[in-house]
Amino acid sequence: MQGSNEYRDVWVYCEVRDGALTRPTTEVIAGARKIADRMGMQVVGILLGYGLDSVAKEPIYYGADKVILCDSPQLKSYQALPYSHVLSELVMRLKPWAFLFVANEVGRELGARVAYRTVTGLAADCIDLLVEDFVMHTPQGRLVFNDCIAQVRPDFATRIAKIFTPRHRPQMSNIRPGSFTPLPRDESRSGEVIRLDVEIPPELFCVKVLEESTLPKSDIRLEEAKVIVSLGLGILKDAKGNPRNPAEAFRYASELASAVRERFGVPSEVGASRALIYANIKELEGLIVKDRQVGQTGKTVAPEIYIAAGISGAIQHRVGMMRSKKIVAINTDPKAPIFQLAHYVVIDDLYEVLPKLVELVRGRAS
Ligand code: FAD
Repeated sequence: MQGSNEYRDVWVYCEVRDGALTRPTTEVIAGARKIADRMGMQVVGILLGYGLDSVAKEPIYYGADKVILCDSPQLKSYQALPYSHVLSELVMRLKPWAFLFVANEVGRELGARVAYRTVTGLAADCIDLLVEDFVMHTPQGRLVFNDCIAQVRPDFATRIAKIFTPRHRPQMSNIRPGSFTPLPRDESRSGEVIRLDVEIPPELFCVKVLEESTLPKSDIRLEEAKVIVSLGLGILKDAKGNPRNPAEAFRYASELASAVRERFGVPSEVGASRALIYANIKELEGLIVKDRQVGQTGKTVAPEIYIAAGISGAIQHRVGMMRSKKIVAINTDPKAPIFQLAHYVVIDDLYEVLPKLVELVRGRAS
């Protein structure tokens, strides 16, 4: 067991884009705040890059207590080897109790490399963080590790798993975007920005960055939507079992989303289950695309209203939408698991209900 008492504080690797912290970073800071407060520890934002003066205090405004800033021309462009070297050196020097990343391309890559170098574990794709005692039953009796992080994530079957790394520090995880709500940005918060230099061996710069360009953003903004109308495999048939053209269900869902946008002025989108996307239905080509997928291997969303139409509610779907404020489930099967989660239960044919909802929102029905 690494001398766990010397390990303190919850670190968050902070990502910056277009001169601001990314939203998923601010979410992870909120998650870090939750466990740090429970442990009486501090939240520390870790910023790497070049020319970061203008954003150095942002992690503090979003809830961190202090920031460790490594600002150097060598870190201008993200590169896995130098960045993971710097982070590993910081971990070994300063010994954080926990180190959290965003579960995206950069966070997954960096977290795994740092965990390997610092001989600790990494729980991937977490959706929540709790502090709990971990009890291990050994031939010698019960072994209790007090106050460990329960890193909550869906398992590969039907349940939610809690991952503990009780013998290792720091406890490391990456957190799925959408899992926490950012704290309001507050410029009156104060905290220290500590500048540190880490020497980087020149051989780690084995990649030469010639040019950087931004990928075009998808028009589908599920994470920002306040209302999501999601479709599942149930759109293939009506309640009587007659095959239906799934493009018709897509049209109803899109009309409902636009009616909400027009009437209430809130962003709304069409989502989908993975089963529907992977069914590769010809009529839905270009309409039901991967960017719409909600769930464990898709997006995590928390809109004001989530309408699940023809979705059974498998755990892998539920973990992506269970933080929605109000859930409306439309399903012909009264035993569908989605109903366990729903605030409004509609046991009916989606081909009957969706057009009525469109009329209702347009003010044409009572
Ligand atoms: P089904 O389970 O087939 O459900 C269709 C539902 O429609 C049924 O409940 C039925 O009663 C209802 N229905 C039928 N006709 C009608 C009608 N006319 N009107 C109303 N209701 C009707 N899934 C995800 O969604 N997102 C993920 O990110 C994801 N990741 C996964 C990761 C792993 C590792 C694994 C193993 C699975 C993952 N899955 C994911 C798949 C998941 O387990 C389910 O298979 C999938 O969510 C089922 O999709 P569905 O609800 O659309 O289809």
